[in-house]
Amino acid sequence: MARVLMIGAGGVGTVVAKKCAQNDSVFTELMIASRTKAKCDKIADEIKQYLPDSRTVVTTAKVDADNVPELVALINEYKPELVINVALPYQDLTIMDACLETGVHYLDTANYEPRDVAKFEYSWQWAYRERFEQAGLMALLGCGFDPGATNVFTAYHAKHYFDEIHYLDIVDCNNGDHGKAFATNFNPEINIREITANGRYYENGQWVETQPLEISQDIYYPKVTTRKSYVLYHEELESLVINFPTIKRARFWMTFGEQYIKHLTVLQNIGMTSIEPINYQGMQIAPLEFLKAVLPAPESLSAGYTGQTCIGVQAKGIKDGKEVVHFVYNVKDHAECHREVQAQGVSYTTGVPAMIGAMLMVNKVWFKPGVYNVEEFDPDPFIAEMNKWGLPVDELAGIELVK
Ligand code: NDP
Repeated sequence: MARVLMIGAGGVGTVVAKKCAQNDSVFTELMIASRTKAKCDKIADEIKQYLPDSRTVVTTAKVDADNVPELVALINEYKPELVINVALPYQDLTIMDACLETGVHYLDTANYEPRDVAKFEYSWQWAYRERFEQAGLMALLGCGFDPGATNVFTAYHAKHYFDEIHYLDIVDCNNGDHGKAFATNFNPEINIREITANGRYYENGQWVETQPLEISQDIYYPKVTTRKSYVLYHEELESLVINFPTIKRARFWMTFGEQYIKHLTVLQNIGMTSIEPINYQGMQIAPLEFLKAVLPAPESLSAGYTGQTCIGVQAKGIKDGKEVVHFVYNVKDHAECHREVQAQGVSYTTGVPAMIGAMLMVNKVWFKPGVYNVEEFDPDPFIAEMNKWGLPVDELAGIELVK
């Protein structure tokens, strides 16, 4: 039924491709394209090995997604109806430009970030709204887990449990152990830029800035554990407070182990997390990019990874004049992900929602020309597909997990 081009062949791309190959009645043809073709070929080979019955026709190609003419040539040659962008946030705008030029729909999992400024916001991509709308094309932004499933959970709260959401807390716990002294679960450069930036949350119409990891509390993650969790800025907050204007306060919490914070502090203190290029033996090198090159690749963490992730959204507000608190969440086991798609839980929980978003788009269940965030669509079909494709959704009523 659908021919889709996926760009990026890292941890998340591995999962998206395998989930598309599992869902072969929808994704009949898939091209995996990335900067390093060998990584695309490896995924294609694994699909043949682990999913021998899949009818999805998988091909691979090399593409530099920073280069619009190269993207346009590849898209014109393959003629997909949708591009799934799971490269890096730096490539969002070039891929959107190429989609506009070739008349193809677009989906990504992370908002645009310029390489030289550690700043991410939707303004750059929202600026494409009119052009996508006029071209009759749809772009779906941030369709991983957080952002992605967390936006769906917020819309689900609003649709089923609240007349007004007042307080929103998104919580992300990785209670896993990959056995490495220090590694990041997704692209190290993007991950470290996110965590070392100042924290930010929304309160009474304003953004309140904090020092990195300044605010913390112990949060109970159902079925998993209680973990110290820290406020940091996360991109879904930006669209959620606009799309749900009754929200008075919105925060994002993430767990970090002591070992992780210790390593990060040292790396920061010695300048290894800086994105300012330095001159090293006549070469301009950004220390963070060099650090990425020496850290384990996220997709290499999968074998032997134990423990679970628990990501959810707590909403507090009013229904029929009464105060209500409700929590919607998913728990996923790293080892189970490895057994199923040879990937760890963080890649899995990002890749499955991307496949689901793509399926809803090509099936026209979610379809409007323009540029949209995930919460602007009906959450129910998405939740139903999460339950079907390996991310069961749970709910907890009446207990306030985040104070
Ligand atoms: P990886 O670093 O593992 O993979 C990134 C892939 O993109 C690599 O294959 C890389 O190629 C490729 N790539 C980078 N630059 C280019 C380029 N110019 N042209 C073509 N390909 C390129 O990252 P992850 O898989 O962990 O993450 C993928 C995306 O998912 C990121 O944007 C990340 O922010 C996002 N994400 C979203 C989450 C969510 O819940 N919403 C959670 C986790 C991640 P090469 O191998 O040559 O470097």
